[in-house]
Amino acid sequence: MEKYLAELNEAQLAPVLHKDGPLMVIAGAGSGKTRVLTYRIAYLMSLGVDSFNILSLTFTNKAAREMKKRIADIVGNSEAKNLWMGTFHSVFAKILRIEADKLGYPSNFTIYDTQDSQRLISSIIKEMGLDKDVYKYKQVQSRISSYKNSLITVKAYFNNPELVEADAMAKRPRMGEIYNAYVERCFKSGAMDFDDLLLKTNELLTRFPEVLAKYQERFRYILVDEYQDTNHSQYLIVKALSDKFQNICVVGDDAQSIYAFRGANINNILNYQKDYEGVKVYRLEQNYRSTKNIVEAANCVIEKNKTRLDKVVWTHNEDGPLIKVHRSSTDADEGRFVAGSIFETRMQQQESNGHFAVLYRTNSQSRAIEDALRKRDIPYRIYGGLSFYQRKEIKDVLAYLRLVINPNDEEALIRIINYPARGIGQTTIDKLTVIANEYKRSIFEVISHMDRIDLKINSGTKARLEEFVNMIRSFQIMNTNADAFALAEHVSKKSGILQEFKKDGTPEGIARMENVEELLNGIKDFVEGQREIDGATGALSEFLEDVALATDLDKDTGDDDRVALMTIHLAKGLEFPYVYIVGMEEDLFPSAMSMNTRSELEEERRLFYVALTRAEKQAYLTYAQSRYRWGKLVDSEPSRFIEEIDDKYLDYLTPIDTGYRYKPLVDVDIFGEVDKSKLRMQKPSNSAPPAYHKPSEEKLRKLRKLKPDISEPIGNNQQDTSLAVGTIVEHERFGRGEVIRLEGIGNDKKAEIKFTNGEVKKLLLRFAKLTIV
Ligand code: ATP
Ligand code: MG
Repeated sequence: MEKYLAELNEAQLAPVLHKDGPLMVIAGAGSGKTRVLTYRIAYLMSLGVDSFNILSLTFTNKAAREMKKRIADIVGNSEAKNLWMGTFHSVFAKILRIEADKLGYPSNFTIYDTQDSQRLISSIIKEMGLDKDVYKYKQVQSRISSYKNSLITVKAYFNNPELVEADAMAKRPRMGEIYNAYVERCFKSGAMDFDDLLLKTNELLTRFPEVLAKYQERFRYILVDEYQDTNHSQYLIVKALSDKFQNICVVGDDAQSIYAFRGANINNILNYQKDYEGVKVYRLEQNYRSTKNIVEAANCVIEKNKTRLDKVVWTHNEDGPLIKVHRSSTDADEGRFVAGSIFETRMQQQESNGHFAVLYRTNSQSRAIEDALRKRDIPYRIYGGLSFYQRKEIKDVLAYLRLVINPNDEEALIRIINYPARGIGQTTIDKLTVIANEYKRSIFEVISHMDRIDLKINSGTKARLEEFVNMIRSFQIMNTNADAFALAEHVSKKSGILQEFKKDGTPEGIARMENVEELLNGIKDFVEGQREIDGATGALSEFLEDVALATDLDKDTGDDDRVALMTIHLAKGLEFPYVYIVGMEEDLFPSAMSMNTRSELEEERRLFYVALTRAEKQAYLTYAQSRYRWGKLVDSEPSRFIEEIDDKYLDYLTPIDTGYRYKPLVDVDIFGEVDKSKLRMQKPSNSAPPAYHKPSEEKLRKLRKLKPDISEPIGNNQQDTSLAVGTIVEHERFGRGEVIRLEGIGNDKKAEIKFTNGEVKKLLLRFAKLTIV
């Protein structure tokens, strides 16, 4: 252990050696937070803490696997294997399976992915006869998801007149009914969606004190990485589990909180010291990841945020090259520049593909980059987007397998009851849905008992339904003694899916068949891999759980050498020697949808901070003068985030210009450097005044279509003064309240607020994010 502790600096060593009681490591990007977490676990184990008593929650399962590997190096594999490590979703899915019966769920419950949830919601909207343009299923789904993440159950929803009214105002008065139907249908199908995994865990821990006690006793040491991005539901789970021993270690960086749009609550990190008694706070300052230029440029940017904790980040690493900024005419040109640059750097520096990452704000930007990489024969992998497991043919095969495990899984059944076509028409399926809902049974149960229920369907259809039931039953029997691979292979043949593709014969059909083969290979790997781990059996149910919770990053085995393409959100926690941040344009990054309030804009800036700090050696910022968006060519101007970096860290490259604005360019790469003064003139948009660097406020508003700040958070800014006793304010979590007292000055200014629920809270204005109403 001594040897390993020497791999930490003094500041990192302190939180690693901290034994009992709550602690928090709050530090900037690349300063070793994840490393501290990893070594702390190893250290605890070396002190004799039983690996069964440690729970570690990470942002991706891949991160968990890597940490486990490192810990295994230090303390040995046999002990490391027992650690509970993974994302909130995967760890609590495991616990829910063990305790499912308490909540009335079968332990083999299905996990619905977003696609399943959306399809179910869309069918409920249709059955209720609602206008699908008013009740847009995606919006309804995301609304239900946010209720769940705020722990608002159906009952709580109907008990909250404000929520009901808000939906009525939004012309969706039947939102609550949809929510109710959705929850009932999921329950009937023995299915939980992603949000349920947290919601139900909370329910389990609150309703069953003995269960809570059991897991409190078990998880004596709890560690959470990326704590700044936990949502309310996750916060409560951690709080409940750690309540007894209070051995809770969270690490995070408020400057990297980028999931507010999904309900993450930065206050979880800001309030941590209030939530636990005697919290020891550790700070790390030295960045080991990036060059001086990158670290300092990133500092420059994040300093512009008003809501943040004061933090210092510096590095002993070398200066490194300047950050390269590149302008191109179109998005296609931008792609060509990136591909060309990767191609050249790879040659000149003898680098492998895996050392390059291209990061973007939205998934749709990947297409132009992909086209260019393909032309250059540069292998790449896209993370996010439509994942392998969401492709139609894969979901179809998986649906059969899901039915084998849980025949009540309605989404799976509806998907394949007539695929491949077996003469069971939509009318029959609709009829079955209605009857099943009436009896509060699943369709599978209904068709298994056709002798007892008069379905009013003809005998031909009845026979076909019977055949279907028998087929699924035969798969279930096989599942009791065959492994997941043998079964999956049998199912894909017997169900007729493979024949369907063969018959099809088109290149697309062949590609689909290959995908199914790839799935089977994956299952084989899984079965073989699992056999090496004690306790795991390679059972089909285990495989399905893995698939349901796999993020795209998880499939990255790291053994093939490819350029990584992903959104910045996905890149959190990762690092690459060369990073290209593309689409650095106003309205794209920062996104047009995030410029209405200061807090939204600050979240975009944090996102940029995350992007830039992924780079170890060299960062590139690229932007295009015009790009296709929503099928139209739109002019754009460079992102304000480029402006926010001090020029001394930037190196503006000569733009590749074909002279033909929208004509594709032959592959050329010119990396000549230019006099910066020239660049000023070359900055795009001829109409922009030369003083672009410091546009007037009015100009800025016009340029950026900034609406007047309607919900300017009162933080460490001029708005402070507008707060007086008697002011009515709105708080993100506590709702509306009245200021009853003010105290302190500057950074320490606090307000005592009486909220409408009667609670009085004293809040530090610097963090409270209040809005005057
Ligand atoms: P992020 O905020 O991006 O999640 P982080 O704070 O978790 O970053 P790590 O990923 O733990 O930082 O560390 C960043 C890099 O620095 C890693 O490659 C890590 O191995 C390296 N590193 C951290 N501490 C040290 C150290 N004391 N000596 C050498 N390398 C270190
Ligand atoms: Mg980290």
